[in-house]
Amino acid sequence: MKIAIDGPAGAGKSTLARQIAEKLGILYIDTGAMYRALTWKALASNINLRDKATLYELAVATEISLVYEDGQLRVYCDRQDVTETIRTPEVSRWVPVVAVDEGVRKVMVEKQREIARKTSVVMDGRDIGLCVLPDADFKFYLTADLEERARRRAKEMVKKGYKVNFEEIKAEIWERDKLDSEREIGPLKVLPDSIVIDTSYLTAEEVVDKVLSLITEENDAVPVP
Ligand code: C5P
Repeated sequence: MKIAIDGPAGAGKSTLARQIAEKLGILYIDTGAMYRALTWKALASNINLRDKATLYELAVATEISLVYEDGQLRVYCDRQDVTETIRTPEVSRWVPVVAVDEGVRKVMVEKQREIARKTSVVMDGRDIGLCVLPDADFKFYLTADLEERARRRAKEMVKKGYKVNFEEIKAEIWERDKLDSEREIGPLKVLPDSIVIDTSYLTAEEVVDKVLSLITEENDAVPVP
């Protein structure tokens, strides 16, 4: 079983993907965390984020792993735990600049396909249905109003102890979505076979129920050979 979940920032993709993976007993891969880890390393190494050759070398040489520890997904970059550091506003701001790079995308997509070759998986990101899992059994596109997505992001950040400026968060999300949607390689977009779900007025639980019922309905309709 391969499930792709794409959509803009703050639409609720990771919450949904985590719960779907748990309910179906399959692996969850947060592909955004992989781009974030590489961006964190690029920033820490002080390299020019627009230097294609250096970025490509960095992507090839970096070991990123997603590991479950006590039921929590932890992100390691070259064996260093970066789970929290990759969520800082600085990384969020620079990640779409790194993610636009062709070489970086090539390396990341290959790593993600490699994981999916071996096991059933639910992956969330921007180009999962388009590039990583074009043959996915299900492709969901989650979206929500910009205001609502910014509200959710602000709430999350307050919880983590950040002082937030709502308008700044809204602008950062808008800018990131624009870069992610307008890039040439692996852009964020609704595909002809995407199931679009607007989560603006739904609770996380309602979204999970909706997606699970779509998956089970469809699977019941397919005769088992
Ligand atoms: O999912 P998350 O918001 O953590 O993703 C952070 C960024 O990583 C996105 O804004 C995008 O620039 C990049 N990304 C991507 N392709 C993916 C997943 C994330 O370009 N499949």
